Amino acid sequence: MRSKTETRETKLDACDITRMLEACPGDETESLFAFADRTRKHFVGDSVHIRGIIEFSNYCTRNCMYCGLRRDNRNLLRYRMTPDEIVAAAKNGILSGYRTIVLQSGEDPYYSASDIARITEGIKSCGDVAVTLSIGERTLSEYATMRSAGADRFLLKHETADAELYLRLHPGASLETRLECLQNLKSLGFQVGSGFIVGLPGQDISTVAEDITLLKLLDCDMAGIGPFIPHPDTPLALHPPGDVMMTLKALAVTRLILPYANLPVTTALSTLRNDGRHLALSCGGNVIMPNITPAKYRELYEIYPDSASLRDPEDGGIREIAVMLEAMGRKMSTTRGDSFRRETGTRGAPSS
Ligand code: SAH
Ligand code: SF4
Repeated sequence: MRSKTETRETKLDACDITRMLEACPGDETESLFAFADRTRKHFVGDSVHIRGIIEFSNYCTRNCMYCGLRRDNRNLLRYRMTPDEIVAAAKNGILSGYRTIVLQSGEDPYYSASDIARITEGIKSCGDVAVTLSIGERTLSEYATMRSAGADRFLLKHETADAELYLRLHPGASLETRLECLQNLKSLGFQVGSGFIVGLPGQDISTVAEDITLLKLLDCDMAGIGPFIPHPDTPLALHPPGDVMMTLKALAVTRLILPYANLPVTTALSTLRNDGRHLALSCGGNVIMPNITPAKYRELYEIYPDSASLRDPEDGGIREIAVMLEAMGRKMSTTRGDSFRRETGTRGAPSS
């Protein structure tokens, strides 16, 4: 599979993508992963960016069929961190060496846009760090308030590119609105991340191919691709988990199609496989997002059970990660790990 195209962005259409996703176990899959790994090395280098994630509220007004934080789950004790607690947790993270802080929550309007703006300013006053928000759908003007306060990036997965499936899995919501939010975020100058879940009921290979095509269409700066994990207190409790191999193939193909993107190892993958980080970093991944939420809240942020992030030490295990990366011949990035587009004004060369 090695070819001259490795030094250029690979042009792949939906048929090519489907064919690659159909790669058989063994040689075909190995060569796809090796191609993705070389592409990652060529376009974004050996550095791995480490983002500390703080899960600051598990309240959610939405009712996504797959998620343990869904509004109708009454078996969950809900919590909200105060703005001071959030900034303090971020400060600890920055002192441990994180150059990006990710703030994630259910869709919780309790925090106004100006609350999020103030929290962002508080974090950014602690050092030269990037702030990524992952707090769901808001209006353009709310996003603008957050951006003006210095928020750099926003993660909002499209979850599935199949509009009908989206409707079934997200009561009262639409893919169209999701995509409008992503466009609004882009227009405000956020570095934007989307992504999807592998193994949703009703999904097949062609849906996954559409998901990857949509990531390309959105020209994402980042993309999170993780397997579905059933949660007992949701309508999808009995649906089997997503396939790890398909998740890795989707990640590998995404690296080929968006060679400059920042592609994290998802926690869901590490939850299904202890060696998830190693696997994903070897087939296109270049970002790890350790959990730095204060220990007392962690178990309550139960999107799915037994999350691998419960095993992260209070500082997210940043030193242990450095050792693991060294052993893999990779290194921990010393930069904020902004989108290559932002660092160079165009698509440019990899940095440390
Ligand atoms: N509320 C925000 C951010 C928190 S949810 C939002 O929805 O954007 C973060 C991600 O968790 C979601 O984007 C979804 O892809 C993932 N997720 C939720 N439930 C899951 C499950 N059961 N298995 C795998 N991933 C899940
Ligand atoms: Fe809420 Fe996000 Fe879970 Fe949906 S995926 S229920 S929006 S936390």
